[in-house]
Amino acid sequence: MKKKSNRVILNRIKKGKFCCPVCGDYRMRIYDHQVGYPEIWVDWNCKNCGQWVGGADNSLPVHITESMRDVRSMKDIRRMLEILV
Ligand SMILES: [Zn+2]
Repeated sequence: MKKKSNRVILNRIKKGKFCCPVCGDYRMRIYDHQVGYPEIWVDWNCKNCGQWVGGADNSLPVHITESMRDVRSMKDIRRMLEILV
């Protein structure tokens, strides 16, 4: 698995880019649970490492990094990931 440096990941998140908080990859695999209209249940996972990076559960899709804009270090990111999992 290819991984960007912590500094690159941190910078991307701070700039509001939707990258994977674990490896820094921009690519996402979108999984539609096909629950049927009008229900919406979509999961986004990192295409590189498989980390869950967001989705929608009868709401507007939200990317995981949107709640990480204020982090200062990779430690903060890891802590937030632990809460989310
Ligand atoms: Zn990843």
